[in-house]
This record gives sequence, structure tokens and C-alpha cells, in this order.
Amino acid sequence: MMVMQDDDDSSRGSEALLTVRNLKKYFRTSKGLVRAVDGVTFSMSTGETLALVGESGSGKTTTAHVIMGFYTPTEGLVMYKGINIGIPIEKRPLSLKREIQIVFQDPATSLNPKKTVKDILETAVKVYGEGVKLERFKTILELMSYVGLSEEHLFKRPTEIGGGEKQLVALARALAVNPAFIILDEPTSALDVSAQSKVLRTLLKIQRDRGVSYLLITHDLGVVRNIASRVIIMYLGKICEEASTDEFFGRPTHPYTQMLLSSIPAMTEEDERILPTRIESRGEIPSAINPPSGCRFHTRCPYAMEVCRKEEPPAFNVGGSSHIVNCWLHSSNTRV
Ligand code: SF4
Repeated sequence: MMVMQDDDDSSRGSEALLTVRNLKKYFRTSKGLVRAVDGVTFSMSTGETLALVGESGSGKTTTAHVIMGFYTPTEGLVMYKGINIGIPIEKRPLSLKREIQIVFQDPATSLNPKKTVKDILETAVKVYGEGVKLERFKTILELMSYVGLSEEHLFKRPTEIGGGEKQLVALARALAVNPAFIILDEPTSALDVSAQSKVLRTLLKIQRDRGVSYLLITHDLGVVRNIASRVIIMYLGKICEEASTDEFFGRPTHPYTQMLLSSIPAMTEEDERILPTRIESRGEIPSAINPPSGCRFHTRCPYAMEVCRKEEPPAFNVGGSSHIVNCWLHSSNTRV
């Protein structure tokens, strides 16, 4: 599946939208302290799509949920347009709740199965919007048409429509409050290929028309290639690599990134060209309760050295202004 991004990049500005500094989120459990996110720093600009990528347990979803206000940080700073948003969602002003929306992986569980599509959208329009009943109805029809749903879906319940259509309802619901920033939490992983393609095209259209910024949480590098402008790879609560999407696929540099990319089967000549030489995946991701010392990837890395077991690698700039890799193999480069 290939969904082409619009070449017109003019809606993308450079204004800082989100800044995350040394974010830590730990959870106390009966088995010990889970260091789900352990010192993550990144920022994103208005109008861009930043993908946070990693295996289960990498900390990508926890990072997104801290930004949403579902959790508060254990340590560190989360700023949105210069405002500290490291507070629970219930304590955030309504304007902020409107601006930052989330679309979940499984619309079957995020949409109330007892309500019709009209009721679901009307609740969002009513809670945040103005207008009398007739105006609200017009807004609902406009939202449905915009995301590609027909009027025949209006009085259907989520259980009566397909997975892709459910996700389009979830998108329409998010759009009802005119958001500036949407977190997409594995938005297509529960969908078949044709529904995925439709949802991805709709996401690109929304961004082109409305300048919405996306933080994409995913383990699917195909989705990243289709819609992200920048990529951050996470492993066991830490960032491994950060690059523009072109740079990321053209020159994957961290051994973990290479392992992730080389696990994708090459389906086309383009895949053959861009996928790195196969690096076999070694072992399982270790526990975040007792993570490995030094570089957290050293227990699985084919290039691990003595220093990797002892010292955590800092970030090194490996090209341009934005390709950053946390790996001792690149210690001859400038530290960030
Ligand atoms: Fe491998 Fe060492 Fe680089 Fe970690 S720092 S990815 S163990 S080479």
C-alpha cells in the first residue's frame, strides 16, 4: 500500500508546537518500579507529522498518554505552545482539551456501541460547539461528508459498520472540536489494507486542508513512510534515533533501527533498494523494571562493545541538523 503525500509542504511552519524535555514516567507495581519512559527529549513544529516508533514496551504510548494528560510526568517537562501541560486532563482548560485530541487504535472500543453515528457526533458538537439543533445537524452532515461517510451511516451503530468506517467516525468526532493537534495511537493497525488506505488518505487531507499537526504512535513502518515527516525510534523508554522520514529510510543508522527495518519483508524493488542488510533480531525486549545497564539495547545488539554495557550513549549528530543517534558507534560525531 502506498499513499502519496502531497508535495505542497507550504502549510508546514516552524513554530514550536510541542516540547518534551527529559520526560520520565515510572509506575510502581507489585513487581517493582516500571521505568516506562526514562528521560525522553524531543520537540515538534506546527503542521508536521512526527512518528514515535517502537516495539511494545518501548514507551511510545506512555509518552503520548502523558501528553494527553492521562498520566502526569514523574519528572520532566511537557510544553504545548509554551504552556506547561504536565497536568491531568481534568484540570486542563476547555480550550486546551479542544486543541489536543486523540484517535485510538481500536474504534470498536472507543465508540459507544449503543449510540448511533449521529448521536456520537452530536455529543462532540454539543459539548464543545455552539448552535441550535438544526445547525448541529448540518455540522454533523458536513463532518461525515468531509471524512468520506455517507448519510446512510447516520443512524447506524458502530457494530453495524466496518472497521474503516468506525475509524472515520472517530476522526469526524475529533474534528468536531476543530483541533490543532491530534495524537494518532496506532490509527490503522486494527484495519484491513483497503480501510487503512482510506483512513491514511483522509488523515493527509485533514492535514492539507486544516494544517493539523499529528503525533503518530505506531510500530508500522509502512504507515510511517506514508504520512510522517519525521521519525523518532524508541527502545525501552529511551530514544535511539531521530531523523526526517527521508533520512530515516535512506540512512537508518542505529543498530536497533536497522534491526526493525530489516525485519520488514521486501515486497517491491523500492523496498529492496531502501531496506538495510538483514540484522537478525536477537532475544526479547528486556523488562522495564530492571533495564540493562549502559545502552539498553546492548543485550540484543550485534555490535555491543565494553563501553555499551557500562555507559549510556549520549545523542550524536550524524548528519545535517536533525539526524541524531544515541549509539557509541558514532562517538566520533558531534554530541548534541
Ligand atoms: Fe549497540 Fe553499543 Fe550502539 Fe548500543 S551503543 S546500539 S550496544 S553499539
